[in-house]
Amino acid sequence: MNLWPPFAKKRRSKRVEKDRISKLPDALIIQILSLLPTKDAFTTSILSKRWQYLWSSVDNLFIQCEDKSQRGNFISFVDYALDNSTCSKIKKFHLDFTHLSKYESQLEFVDDELLFPISRWLSTAVKKNVENVVLLSDSYNYESIDLPDTIYKCSTLITLDLTCCTFKEEFSIDWKFLKTLKLNDIKLNDDIIVNILSGCPALEILEFSKFYGLRHLEINSSNLKRLKFEDYLSYYDDSDDPSLDIIAPNIQHLEISEDMYDLKCRLVNVSSMVSAKLNFRMSCTSIAQGASSVTCPDEHQVIRKLIQDYLQKLSNATELTIGTWYTEVLMQFEEISLPELKCKCLTLDLRITKFYFYGAAILLKATPHVETLNITMTTTLMDLRRCAFELGYLAKEHDIHFLSSFGFPYLKNVKVFSSSKMCLKGNIEWDNDDLLKLSEFILKNATVLEKFTIISKRKTCKICSMKCASRYSLRLAEKLVGCSRSSTTCVIICQEGAFRV
Ligand SMILES: [Zn+2]
Ligand SMILES: [Zn+2]
Repeated sequence: MNLWPPFAKKRRSKRVEKDRISKLPDALIIQILSLLPTKDAFTTSILSKRWQYLWSSVDNLFIQCEDKSQRGNFISFVDYALDNSTCSKIKKFHLDFTHLSKYESQLEFVDDELLFPISRWLSTAVKKNVENVVLLSDSYNYESIDLPDTIYKCSTLITLDLTCCTFKEEFSIDWKFLKTLKLNDIKLNDDIIVNILSGCPALEILEFSKFYGLRHLEINSSNLKRLKFEDYLSYYDDSDDPSLDIIAPNIQHLEISEDMYDLKCRLVNVSSMVSAKLNFRMSCTSIAQGASSVTCPDEHQVIRKLIQDYLQKLSNATELTIGTWYTEVLMQFEEISLPELKCKCLTLDLRITKFYFYGAAILLKATPHVETLNITMTTTLMDLRRCAFELGYLAKEHDIHFLSSFGFPYLKNVKVFSSSKMCLKGNIEWDNDDLLKLSEFILKNATVLEKFTIISKRKTCKICSMKCASRYSLRLAEKLVGCSRSSTTCVIICQEGAFRV
């Protein structure tokens, strides 16, 4: 048959492509399939006889119930996939069981049995020497699954990321190779943590998110170096005055982020700390109860002491990241001198508000050794709840005469990055912008400053259809060029792009 040349060419190239795929060795195809969700890897079994069983050798299972109407089919599929898996070791078992939860909403009750298969699947993964497990669920489902007995003894685990699970009252753990443990939305108590820590001697990273029930955390292992707390769930905690004591003399990296509500997280011993990120906020009882309270100023006194103690305990850390709320509390420190911090790299993770300048300046005064200063500016829709007492001291005129008496003897590099998720058009014309005030102050007092870089995202804003973040940064740079500088070699750079510390 005489085909029109372009058509013939097209058919030939298709045949070539087909040949190239079929020439790949099984091991490589299995590796490619392991990058896909398990459902998609399974779908390739219909391609040809050769592909029929390749998916079953995949050792990376990524299984997700995408739609609650598919639950029945989903359960059958996971049973089939696990029963027919031929790999001797499952490297990763990632199971998102959000739509299998007992409660679809607070009102609708779903059959108990729907939760049962998760324990069964986990047990099968344990039998296949699973190394990395992620159990994911929606925190709005008010029922957690009981971990099967087999998982407590799964000594092949290397990382474990659990959400909405329940630990038994009494259990012993044998996770001797476990390096990373993440506990999300899990009811904890001190005994559970003691039990867990005694069973994982190799643990290096421990993270808690949406946590509650912990009062005392003592970590003595020299392997465990990273500790993170994110979002405390105060409404699940039955204590009126919740606190958490942290005794972790070997921990080198600490992060406390998001909402801690009224939890007093005390750093009792963190003497090896190298870097800390304190990007959390707390609230007084009047905020939590939605009413004004006469004890509110006393609570703020306690919070102030706590914040001061943090800086004391972290005074040897060389890298610090401090968030907006923290700088706001520092604004109450007019009369109190802060400990001198050894920090060399300071990152101020600030939301664009008009309040932080004074607090940030107080922190800078406490960090005379700083060589690199990063200021990341964000605007988010996150609610910054403040009580009448807080609004009172934020609105006060602060005496800034102390600012003239200190400098930055080692500061060489400043980077300001605006990563706004909101439109900054309204901020472009701000004349009394705290970021401008802070930048002017740094330029005036940093004697060996080499570079002051202002970076903004390249993106066009969806709201105002212009590059408002860039224009905001450009205006800042223009104003700074005209400011007095104590370092004669300092250059001001304004660029678009991504932020790199
Ligand atoms: Zn208050
Ligand atoms: Zn905009």
